[in-house]
Order: sequence, then structure tokens, then C-alpha cells
Amino acid sequence: MNKIEHIGIAVKDLNASNTLFKKLLGTEHYKTEEVLSEGVRTSFFKSGPNKVELLAATDPESPIAKFLEKKGEGIHHIAFAVDDIEAEVSRLKAEGFTVLNETPKKGADNKLVVFLHPKSANGVLVELCQEIGE
Ligand code: ZN
Repeated sequence: MNKIEHIGIAVKDLNASNTLFKKLLGTEHYKTEEVLSEGVRTSFFKSGPNKVELLAATDPESPIAKFLEKKGEGIHHIAFAVDDIEAEVSRLKAEGFTVLNETPKKGADNKLVVFLHPKSANGVLVELCQEIGE
């Protein structure tokens, strides 16, 4: 695995949180993107070589809506950049991690993504992401 690519934070109100994180990081978000399949609207901030991804639900049945209901706002996942997502999935499965989606899916920010179950990673939802078209 390479660096931490981004940290995903679940928020209730994307506009309000964009304002908050602009104050916190001293920079505007550089993009907003809706991922229809996940029922989520995201915005991205740069923080040095890493990013912060804010996630708000667009659908009350989406995983983010359920997360907010259960746990409230806060850190939702940590994403690690990988060069070969399929090789990493095989490696991590062999190491005993539970993979939530074995076939990488298209996530936000032009990435292929795979999630590991938090139960197999000390309660942390781990995202692997590989830039598309590298
Ligand atoms: Zn993410």
C-alpha cells in the first residue's frame, strides 16, 4: 500500500461542512461529486499530499445515511492508495481480512475502490483505491 489517500468523514449537511472545513484547512474544497450508486454526495479538500472527503447522504437508504443514524457525524473510513487493487485484495484476503466488495467498483474522484469490513480491521472501515487510467 502507498500513502493514506484520504480520510472520509460523514456529515449531515455538506454545505455547512464545506464552510467548516474551509475554515479548518484554510482552503476551499476543489470538487464536489455525486456517486449515484452509493447514494452519496462528496466534496474533496487537499491537505498536503492527502485529502479529506466529506460524505453526505442523498438517499435515506444509503450506507452513509445509516452510518449517520447509528453513529452520528465523524470519521467514516480511511482510504489507502494502491497501485494494483486486485493484487492487494488477494493479499489482504490471504491475510484474513474480510473484503466487502471483491470486484473493485467505481468510486468518487476517478478511483476504483474496494472496502474491507471494519470487523476485520479493529473497527476501521478501510478503503483501497486505485487511480483509474494509471
Ligand atoms: Zn473514500
